[in-house]
Amino acid sequence: MSAPIAFLDVLAAYAELRPQIDAAVARVLQSGCYIGGEEVERFESDWATFCEARQAIGVGNGLDALRLALLALDIGPGDEVIVPSNTFIATWLAVAQVGAVAVPVEPDPSSFNLDATRIEAAITHRTRAIMPVHLYGQPADLDPILAIARRHGLRVIEDAAQAHGARYRGRRIGAHGDAVAWSFYPGKNLGAMGDGGAITTDDAELAERLRKLRNYGSSTRYVHEMAGVNSRLDPIQAAVLSVKLAHLDEWNARRSLIAARYREGLSDSGLILPQVPPWAEAVWHLFVVRHPDREAMRDRLADAGIGTLIHYPTPPHRQGAFASMASLSLPISERLHRDVLSLPMGPHLGLQAVDRVIEAIGLLMSR
Ligand SMILES: *Cc1c(COP(=O)(O)O)cnc(C)c1O
Repeated sequence: MSAPIAFLDVLAAYAELRPQIDAAVARVLQSGCYIGGEEVERFESDWATFCEARQAIGVGNGLDALRLALLALDIGPGDEVIVPSNTFIATWLAVAQVGAVAVPVEPDPSSFNLDATRIEAAITHRTRAIMPVHLYGQPADLDPILAIARRHGLRVIEDAAQAHGARYRGRRIGAHGDAVAWSFYPGKNLGAMGDGGAITTDDAELAERLRKLRNYGSSTRYVHEMAGVNSRLDPIQAAVLSVKLAHLDEWNARRSLIAARYREGLSDSGLILPQVPPWAEAVWHLFVVRHPDREAMRDRLADAGIGTLIHYPTPPHRQGAFASMASLSLPISERLHRDVLSLPMGPHLGLQAVDRVIEAIGLLMSR
């Protein structure tokens, strides 16, 4: 049998950039500056530029990026925040952790993203914000969401943990909403070698609040103006991210090539393939197909040495963490969670491997 095909090979990025990454890490170790400092500031500035945003604030991880964005916008107990019913649970957890209530709205199944036409029905006098997620690397349709937010005086906090480099109507994801939350978890399109996160925004005042909030509510040592947390981007991770950022566009372009290959090769397979609206430039964090018996498909691909994952097997409202919402009926999300399957995807996946996946699926589907 030919070599197994991993779902994602995070070591391949290190193999490609090892001398630069090793040098960057050594530079931080030698600097004696292990919290904040130049490496973090340089990455924040480069990340803001990349995202076409005025400000970037590094934090400890993506969940904290979401949580601090909510805190900085004064969203808390008594407030409601509209979230997609199908997302990674972090989106909902951030809302719960500030004491607010996550109010799920169903997605458009063709894009997997928040269906803007369903938002207004979910708005109450307690609603304070909408949190669209750019799921799987495809931007949510932001214009209608921003228009609804303006009409109702709501904030928009984007969960962009899967959308590094994506564009909505020609402009990078990064500052369409009030605040945009990023994760640099190792498996993301821009991944650190450990935890990391950031918030981007065009709002300088909000950025100032976030810089204090992430650092014990302080901008001057031992002066604490607000009840902050400790969630800072590690300078070693910032140095690694700076090396990788220079390759992000190229790596996203490779993901696009793979996605195009899958779309072409699987067009007659009978699988439901991801659709990309003309206004979206997706960055293919994941390539997610749908099949009514995805468990069997997953097992048979595993037998052929092909690694797949499920994003995600259980919707947030059916998790123990949100037991009080277990009786909610969110049929679109529930169906998606039953039939999605993520195929191997990543900048270091060879086109020959992609062709083998396509061939294996073709064989499965024709039986
Ligand atoms: C990864 C992810 C997060 C959380 O990121 P962490 O850095 O792991 O905390 C949040 N939202 C979405 C959609 C994600 O994919």
